[in-house]
Amino acid sequence: MGDRELEFVKEAFDTNWIAPVGPHVDAFEQEFCQVVGTSHAAAVSSGTAALHLALQLIGVEPGDEVFCSTLTFIATASPITYLGAKPVFIDSDRTSWNMNPDLLEEALEHRAKIGKLPKAVVVVHLYGQSADIEPILKACDRYEIPLIEDAAESLGATYKGRSPGTFGRIGIFSFNGNKIITTSGGGMLIADDPNLVSKARFLATQARDPAPHYQHSEIGYNYRLSNVLAGIGRGQLLVLEERVQARRRNFEFYQQALGHLLGIEFMPEASFGRATRWLTCLTINPATFGIDREKVRLALAEQQIEARPVWKPLHLQTVFAECECIGGAVAEDLFERGLCLPSGSNLTTEDLERVVGSFNGIYGSAVQTY
Ligand SMILES: *Cc1c(COP(=O)(O)O)cnc(C)c1O
Repeated sequence: MGDRELEFVKEAFDTNWIAPVGPHVDAFEQEFCQVVGTSHAAAVSSGTAALHLALQLIGVEPGDEVFCSTLTFIATASPITYLGAKPVFIDSDRTSWNMNPDLLEEALEHRAKIGKLPKAVVVVHLYGQSADIEPILKACDRYEIPLIEDAAESLGATYKGRSPGTFGRIGIFSFNGNKIITTSGGGMLIADDPNLVSKARFLATQARDPAPHYQHSEIGYNYRLSNVLAGIGRGQLLVLEERVQARRRNFEFYQQALGHLLGIEFMPEASFGRATRWLTCLTINPATFGIDREKVRLALAEQQIEARPVWKPLHLQTVFAECECIGGAVAEDLFERGLCLPSGSNLTTEDLERVVGSFNGIYGSAVQTY
C-alpha cells in the first residue's frame, strides 16, 4: 500500500458509504479513465467479472466461438464458457509472448471463407507487456469482429504511447492481490462507447430497470466494486508509476546479474512499447544451461525462493481438451522452458541479491554436472 489508501478508506467509514456504490466508486472510475486515457469505465468486483460482462455486452451466446490467446491465466477464457460459448485458442509470437497477429489474420481469413467467423476475439497482454495490437485490431476490423482486451496484467504498460486496453471495443483490468496495483479484489471495464459502460453498470447491479419498485426484464449479476475498496484503488492509482519503476528495477537487476549465463534468455521487451515487467520472466535452454527449468525451480524452492513456471497454455488444460488451437508450439515451448522469478514491488536489494546468488550457485553446479 501507498500513503493515501487508509485516508480514503477512513473517508468511506466517516461518511458511512459502506456499499457497492458511493463517491469513491465514481471518483475511482474517473481517475482510472485519466490514467489509462479512456472516456468511460465501470468498477467491478473482479477482472473475471469484467470479462464476463464484456463478452455478454458483445452478445456472445451459447454455441458461439470466441478466439482467445492460449498462453494466459484461465480467467481469460473461463467467462467464454460461462456464456455457453467455445474458445478457440491462438498461439503466441516470440517478440511479445502474446497473440501472434499473423496466425489470427490467417485464421480469420480461413473462417470467413467457410462462413464460420468467431463472435469475438479476446487478446491478453501478458506479464506487463502489450500484445502487438495494431495488426490484431486491423485483422478484427477487416471481418468486423469485436476485440476485447484482457489487460489484467498490464496496467501501466504502453503500446506506441497508449495504454493497452484502450484499443479494442472493450478493455478490462484487474486489481486482484497479485496485480501491479490492488484493491484486494476488483476490476475495471473500459470502453469509448458510453452505452456499453452504462449497460455494464446495469448488468453488474442485478439489471434493475428504472422504476420505484424492483423491476427486472433481464438477468444481471452482483458485480459492482465496494466503495471501501474503490477508496483503496484511488490511493493505489497514485503509486502506479512507482510500482512500474520498482518492477522494471527488479527486471534490470536480474538481467544484469544473470543475462550472461549460457542458456538464459529474458522475456523480450517488444519495440512497440514499454513493458511494466509485472513479473520478471526468462527461459532456460537445458542443452546449454545444463539443467532444465523444473530442476532450477526446485533448486530455488529448496532455498525458500518461490519461482513459478510460465502459464500453462490453455489448450493443454484438461477442461479445454476438446477445444481447437491454432498453432501452439510457441506457447508450449515458453511453458516448458519459462520461469517467473520473485517480482514483488517491495523486494529489497538484499532479496534480489539472494535470488541471484542462489541462481548462480545452481548454474555453477549444473555446468559441472554437464
Ligand atoms: C488476474 C487475471 C485475470 C482475472 O482477474 P481477477 O481480478 O483475478 O478476476 C484475468 N486475466 C488475466 C490474464 C489475469 O492475470
